[in-house]
Parts: sequence; structure tokens; C-alpha cells
Amino acid sequence: MKEIILLKYGEMVLKGLNRGYFDNLLLKRVRNLLKEVDGRFTLDYSQSTLCIRGDDNADFYKAFSQMKKVFGVATVCRGVECEKNMDAIKRSLLENGADFLQGAKTFKCVARRSDKSFPLTSPQICAECGDIILESFDGVSVNVINPDVSVTIEIRDKSAFLHGGGEKGAGGMPVGSNGNALLLLSGGIDSPVAGYMAAKRGVALDAVYFESPPYTSEAAREKVISLARKLSEYSGRIYLHCVSVTEIQQTMTGLCEIRLFTLLLRRFMVRIAERIANEIGASALVTGESIGQVASQTIMSIAVTNSVAGIPIFRPCIGLDKEEIVVRARSIGTFDISGLPYEDCCTVFTPKHPNTRPTEDLLVEEEKKLDVEGLVERALKSRKHIKIG
Ligand code: ATP
Ligand code: MG
Repeated sequence: MKEIILLKYGEMVLKGLNRGYFDNLLLKRVRNLLKEVDGRFTLDYSQSTLCIRGDDNADFYKAFSQMKKVFGVATVCRGVECEKNMDAIKRSLLENGADFLQGAKTFKCVARRSDKSFPLTSPQICAECGDIILESFDGVSVNVINPDVSVTIEIRDKSAFLHGGGEKGAGGMPVGSNGNALLLLSGGIDSPVAGYMAAKRGVALDAVYFESPPYTSEAAREKVISLARKLSEYSGRIYLHCVSVTEIQQTMTGLCEIRLFTLLLRRFMVRIAERIANEIGASALVTGESIGQVASQTIMSIAVTNSVAGIPIFRPCIGLDKEEIVVRARSIGTFDISGLPYEDCCTVFTPKHPNTRPTEDLLVEEEKKLDVEGLVERALKSRKHIKIG
């Protein structure tokens, strides 16, 4: 009997001809995440399930938590593998039943036979295994409609897999299966969540961070690097492009209407991000904007930010309340990092009374005072990129 982890694939199972491509992307993520876990692991895919086996040093506990970060996986199960006969299955249940039940009060048995030559039918397997559990573990009863735990017995080609039904996986689709996008990553709460949501749908990410040295500090950049690192645990490798907008902000000061500062800067960010996206082969931008959250995110503000972009801007948080975004930020582990108190380039030059009903004409008129192209060019020259993950 050996410990195993099983990954049950999600909607990519439906992807027909592209399946091989999806599988390879998912396997790559799994391998990368297991590199950080003690022990040597082997992967074996069959029948919509990836079975992960490990050597004697394998840290299955850590491996399990890593596997919960893999997009494309619907369910992650910790279980055991044993010989494919009822004696071995019952012995394994006796030894591991407590782990499967985890203090549950009710259970049912589920049997799956992909090997149809197995001498017992699925109901017979369930009946025998159910009896063993009822006899051997105190305080549990059967509930076939709504059990706390489904003790599952899978009869496979070469062996049997046993587990307690597993936990919900990260869902979504394997990263890279839906193209590339560039995330505008600030030190805030929203943009890492937006990046996570895009990555969950299979989008591979790189990120751009706009800073304003010396008004923004090295610590503020470190915070964004930490956010990118956390995000990369789910999305895989990220190149973080750091671009200085100091000259842009200094030039605007004195020349432009202060009430439009944030929006003017946003339009610069979009122009610069698009240039980087084109260069690195990203087909869209992703931001953490949500309608009405702040002055620069009224529909009219978003419209004038959008209008300078020649590629799509995705805003996965658009309809989420701040509280809902916070719940997600906590669950992916970015919330505490975002809470670190460092300044952002937008907060350094924030107008007290920003214009919340801007028009395109107003912004275009204002930009006539600036050498937009030259400022974009010079900002791009300041770019440094950092490989993360
Ligand atoms: P966040 O929590 O993501 O910072 P926010 O509510 O503070 O969001 P804004 O500061 O208005 O919102 O920014 C809106 C979006 O613009 C951000 O989600 C992010 O995608 C992008 N953005 C803002 N500031 C920066 C920055 N310094 N670098 C990169 N992107 C930025
Ligand atoms: Mg912000």
C-alpha cells in the first residue's frame, strides 16, 4: 500500500482534440510546483485522473497543498493505492479509514470500476467496504443522500485507489491554454486578484508596475515583487516590468489640470502597457478596476482610460464589491502583502477633487500640453524586468 495524490481534471476534459496540449500545460505546472516539495514524485495520467506517487522521503502534506494551486484541476484527493483485490482493499480501509473519515459522522461508499473484469460489481464493493467501516470505526453511520464523506474505491487497470472524496481544486483551465496577457500590477488589493482570475481561465501572465522614484520607495517595489511572487505560485513564471513614470508626473505638475491627474496618468499607463504587451506577445491587458470603486473607476473614467488602448483590457473584478475582492485576496494569500503601508505612484500625486465625469475631448485637449509620445518613449527606456517564479 502506498500513499498517492489524485488530481481530477475539470472542464479541460471536454476539450477533445486539444486535450494533449492542455494535459502538457497542466503537467508542467504540477512538475514545477512539486519541485519545491521534499522527495521525488512520479506522475501517471489515465482516465481523466493524474496519479502522483512519491518515494519514501516524499512530503505528501506539502504536495497536497501545492496541488490545490493548479488551474485545470477540479478535485484533489489524498489517498492510498493498493493491490486490486478485496482483501487488500479492506486492509487498506482499516489502516486508512480514519484519515478518509476525518471525524465525519456520516459517510457513503462510492465504487468506480474502470476494470470491468473485476469480480465484484460496484454495489457489491460498496456493500463490503461499508460494512468494514461500520464495524471498525465508532460513531459513524451511513447516509447515501448527503454524507459528510464519500469513501471512494476506484478499481483501475493495475491497482486500486482509495480516498475520502478529496477537496475542491483550483478549477479553471491550465495556465497558458488561453493565451498571454499583461497585468497592471499595483501594490493594492485588487490587481493581484484580477491577475489570479485571468490566470484561472488559462491566461499566462506577465506584469507591469509603474513607480515614481524617489517619491515611491524601493520597499514599495519589493512589495509588488512579493505580490507577483505569490501570484506566480498559481500562474507560473511572471516577468515583472518596472517602469518609472516620474517624468510624466513631474511634467504634468504645473502644466495640467490637477483634477485630471489620475486619469491622465492612467492613460499613460495603458499606452505604455500596450507597447510592452506588443513587444512580449501579450494580446490583452488586465487591471483590477471595479465599477465605481474610486473616482477613477466611474464608467466615464473607465471609458476615457479604455479609449487609448488598441488591445482589449480585461477587468475581472469589474462587478465585485470590495469585500468580495478582499475575500478572494485572503484566500489566495495576497491580502496581507497588499496591506503593507507603502506609497503608490497614484497616491503620491492624487488630486483632492478628481473629475469623476470626464470626457474624451477634455483629456485629448489636456494632453495637447504634453509630448505624449516622447514621455511614453522615455518611460519605456526606464524599464527593468525581473523574472519571478
Ligand atoms: P489596486 O488595489 O489594484 O491598486 P485600486 O482600487 O487601488 O486597485 P486604482 O489605484 O484606481 O485602484 O488602480 C486601478 C487599476 O489600475 C489597478 O487595479 C491596477 O490594475 C492599475 N494600476 C494602478 N496603479 C498602478 C501601478 N502603480 N502600477 C501598475 N498598475 C497600476
Ligand atoms: Mg492601486
